[in-house]
Amino acid sequence: MTTRVWDYLPEYEKEKDDILEAVEKVFASGQLILGESVRAFEREFADFHGMAHCTGVDNGTNALKLGLEALGVGPGDEVITVANTAAPTVVAIVGTGATPVFVDVREEDFLMDTAQVEAAITPRTKALLPVHLYGQCVDMAPLRALARSHGLKILEDCAQSHAATHHGRPAGTMGDAAAFSFYPTKVLGAYGDGGAVVTDDDATDRALRRLRYYGMEQTYYVVHSPGHNSRLDEVQAEILRRKLTRLPGYAEARRSVARHYEEQLADLAGPGGLRLPTTNPGNTHVYYVYVVRHPRRDEIIEALKAYGIALNISYPWPVHTMTGFGFLGYRRGSLPVTEKLADEIFSLPMYPSLTESRQDEVAAALRTVLASL
Ligand SMILES: *Cc1c(COP(=O)(O)O)cnc(C)c1O
Repeated sequence: MTTRVWDYLPEYEKEKDDILEAVEKVFASGQLILGESVRAFEREFADFHGMAHCTGVDNGTNALKLGLEALGVGPGDEVITVANTAAPTVVAIVGTGATPVFVDVREEDFLMDTAQVEAAITPRTKALLPVHLYGQCVDMAPLRALARSHGLKILEDCAQSHAATHHGRPAGTMGDAAAFSFYPTKVLGAYGDGGAVVTDDDATDRALRRLRYYGMEQTYYVVHSPGHNSRLDEVQAEILRRKLTRLPGYAEARRSVARHYEEQLADLAGPGGLRLPTTNPGNTHVYYVYVVRHPRRDEIIEALKAYGIALNISYPWPVHTMTGFGFLGYRRGSLPVTEKLADEIFSLPMYPSLTESRQDEVAAALRTVLASL
């Protein structure tokens, strides 16, 4: 039997009645687009974060793009972010007409090296886009200080960090706005695509509502400028409402999977060999993915296939080295830590319903493979 890096079917088995009831409720409601379920989910997701507003959108990429646009980012502006992220972070910046500017990440935690940000600020810089990668938050205090002193906006990329906290504050509450994805694999995942932007600022939220609805405030009338069609689907919203009540449980289950890996693998870890993920002081990690490192990553992944264990790499190619982003003018060598990590990281299976016995099989196979290197 193959162990996959992610699998929602065991969860669906448990939650099937609730999920199908959500679908039925929407189909029978008489309103299929921007109805009661989207409104209720927006209220509940904002409340979960203690934020004033949430606007549901069609996916995480557009949550980032509309979030940036609502904060005033557009052509000619620069947005500082990292290349050690999912490509959509950068796709969204490019989609606004702005230029992404990359800083490197830190080797210890894979996250934005905030000490490099100030040197990357130019007169064109409009926003900082920290990515709370793998399930824990970027160090926000230095970014908030820079944003204040340079008049910049902050948009948090929370696609991998639902319910994570940073010095007691939830991810998504530490900038001017925050973008979430509900892609099925995420910590809060829909049964299809979905996304949302949360903010405390009334004007930003009004802009988001226009932007997701063609630019319209009233039906059939575009007030300021053309927008997009980026609405959260009513069915996904109703499913997300139900799953939101279980989000703290999903996060706790992921932490417990991580603790079990830690127990099983701690003795294999060491400098120059296998390295397990760490949690920074002040953070609670939600382990969207469980990323480990080894200099001989490719051989390990290949060998584990013989045990029916399929591993993933998040992400094998740093964004700045992809040919599709060649127009940004980065070369291999420009972000040395990002590039080194991309060659060494791999993800062990991680999802809330992963059983300890499955984890033990993965740990045992990894132990054998490492011994044979
Ligand atoms: C998943 C993800 C996105 C994109 O979300 P979609 O819903 O797939 O568009 C953006 N940023 C990060 C960091 C992600 O992990």
